[in-house]
Amino acid sequence: MDTQIKNKSELLRGGQFLVKETKAEDVFTPEDFSEEQKMMRDSVKEFVDREIVPKKERFEHKDYALTEEIMRKAGELGLLGVVVPEEYGGLGMGFVTTMLVCDYISGATGSIATAFGAHTGIGTLPITLYGTEEQIRKYVPKLATGEWFGAYALTEPGAGSDANSGKTKAVLSEDGKYYSITGQKMWISNAGFCNTFIVFARIEDDKNITGFIVENDPSNGISLGDEEKKLGIHSSSTRQVFFNETKVQAENMLGGRGEGFKIAMNALNVGRIKLAAASLDAQRRVITEAVKYANERIQFKVPISSFGAIKLKLAEMATNAYVSESASYRAAKNIEDRIALRVAQGNSHQEAELKGVEEYAIECSILKVAVSEDIQNCADEGIQIFGGMGFSADTPMEAAWRDARIARIYEGTNEINRMLAVGMLVKKAMKGHVDLLNPAQAVASELMGIPSFETPDYSELLSEEKEMIAKLKKVFLMVAGSAVQKYGTELEEHQQTLMAAADILIEIYMAESGILRTEKNAKRFGKDTQKEQLAMAQLYLYHAVDIITVKAKEAILSFSEGDEQRMMLMGLKRFTKYQNTPNIGELRRTIADKVISENQYPF
Ligand SMILES: Cc1cc2nc3c(=O)[nH]c(=O)nc-3n(C[C@H](O)[C@H](O)[C@H](O)COP(=O)(O)OP(=O)(O)OC[C@H]3O[C@@H](n4cnc5c(N)ncnc54)[C@H](O)[C@@H]3O)c2cc1C
Repeated sequence: MDTQIKNKSELLRGGQFLVKETKAEDVFTPEDFSEEQKMMRDSVKEFVDREIVPKKERFEHKDYALTEEIMRKAGELGLLGVVVPEEYGGLGMGFVTTMLVCDYISGATGSIATAFGAHTGIGTLPITLYGTEEQIRKYVPKLATGEWFGAYALTEPGAGSDANSGKTKAVLSEDGKYYSITGQKMWISNAGFCNTFIVFARIEDDKNITGFIVENDPSNGISLGDEEKKLGIHSSSTRQVFFNETKVQAENMLGGRGEGFKIAMNALNVGRIKLAAASLDAQRRVITEAVKYANERIQFKVPISSFGAIKLKLAEMATNAYVSESASYRAAKNIEDRIALRVAQGNSHQEAELKGVEEYAIECSILKVAVSEDIQNCADEGIQIFGGMGFSADTPMEAAWRDARIARIYEGTNEINRMLAVGMLVKKAMKGHVDLLNPAQAVASELMGIPSFETPDYSELLSEEKEMIAKLKKVFLMVAGSAVQKYGTELEEHQQTLMAAADILIEIYMAESGILRTEKNAKRFGKDTQKEQLAMAQLYLYHAVDIITVKAKEAILSFSEGDEQRMMLMGLKRFTKYQNTPNIGELRRTIADKVISENQYPF
């Protein structure tokens, strides 16, 4: 693994970013990619440009065979087994490298992004993470090389977000040798060409479902519904799967009886951060196509890229892409470091990976929500820049927009992930893994005190922005702390508050990631090399402050009253106040001019 092992004390726990300061030197950024990682990135890019981009049109016309063909070729190049240990036929690379591959292979079409994610993430990973040695040896080498393909069958007509409520049954035979699985699964990606399903079913009246590895054999009671007619990802196979007394050897149970829900959720943690990665290159490609068009399209005798209204869009699109990248690779490296630490402590690779990702489940949910919404907005503005042509299926924006839409729905809807992010943080606080209580109490006392009227020294680069982040964290602690106090264990019933708290949390993580990446790069490469990046970090933060102000106010007004409410509203004002408000127009011009002059996403 290409990482220097960090000490436990050097590594922040998941969610701790909120209460412990992260130094710029301690975040990993895309500028830190090793030579090996860059080579991997470039070879994936080359693969996509050679194999996928020229065939883009075919992906819009339900060419499922093409998806299978590309997946097989990806397998031949080793791209399906990047994270799989070498002894099981993979490349045995680190978590950051898997993110990189997922990022760059997914950008040209959502059909491949979905097929790749479903196969490598939720289709293969549960076996590498929870399988017995025999199960791993039997299935993983085939899946890692693309000889076989995997699918993940959790959702049912009556069990979507409520994933543990499935009705699919697994009945043990009298001789105890096999289970007989009967039930209906829905929306199963890769169903049309997979060789294995990870199926979740209930044994007797167990509280929790159980996972099974089921080989796709139509003669064993497995049948498929027709391909779903979908808004986007037209060449990703999505079908219902019916199991009718499908016999599965007892030794194909994954993990223990009743452990399926845990397996399903842990597989989704990885799936979520990978989905964020899978929404990065799509943004870069949309921005590049949009600026190329804007530079060529003449209206009122000038290229439309010269209009402020178009610059505004390009600047916002580039900023969100830059921040998405910053946050995704920051979290990916945290996970990689945590895995390395656990391996060094004697955990098996399997256990280390499981716990490493689980530790950052909060960040995985944050990224899933933020980046899936960024790609959606990016594609939407891409259409707008293309004008009428954007609405035409003959330009790349239309498909990008339709393909982006699914990312907000699968791997747990964005509503579920918002609630999870806050819920998991509160749970971690209750278990004592992240100390929110003391910092929240400190904020409460600060609110009672008199604010300082000293003029702060902001001569150091990004110091005001970093102070702003520290204040925004206080907003979260104030709002979430009071909500926990008020609602106690019933907090989860108050979804509007949870949604607001999640948005605050998300904006803090994303804005901080952009700032820290920029600060790190300015320190090592020189401030002058980071002019546009500085502008992006500031622009993102400016919006984050606005969003947080609105969300926090909503929450405060809905659960407090009287003096307490007045005090929190005053605190909110204090914690969201700039000393030197940035000139937003200027920032956007700086960013857009760079994108326009380079005629591509240049960061
Ligand atoms: C193209 C595609 C591919 C997919 N691939 C797979 C796959 O490979 N394997 C697989 O197992 N599944 C797959 N899915 C299923 C996907 O994970 C589910 O669609 C998703 O989890 C949402 O479930 P649902 O559709 O039943 O929506 P519902 O759960 O019915 O949700 C409907 C709405 O209600 C909201 N909601 C639900 N519960 C709550 C709550 N407690 N509080 C607040 N709001 C709530 C949701 O956020 C959503 O807005 C796929 C879906 C699609 C569309």
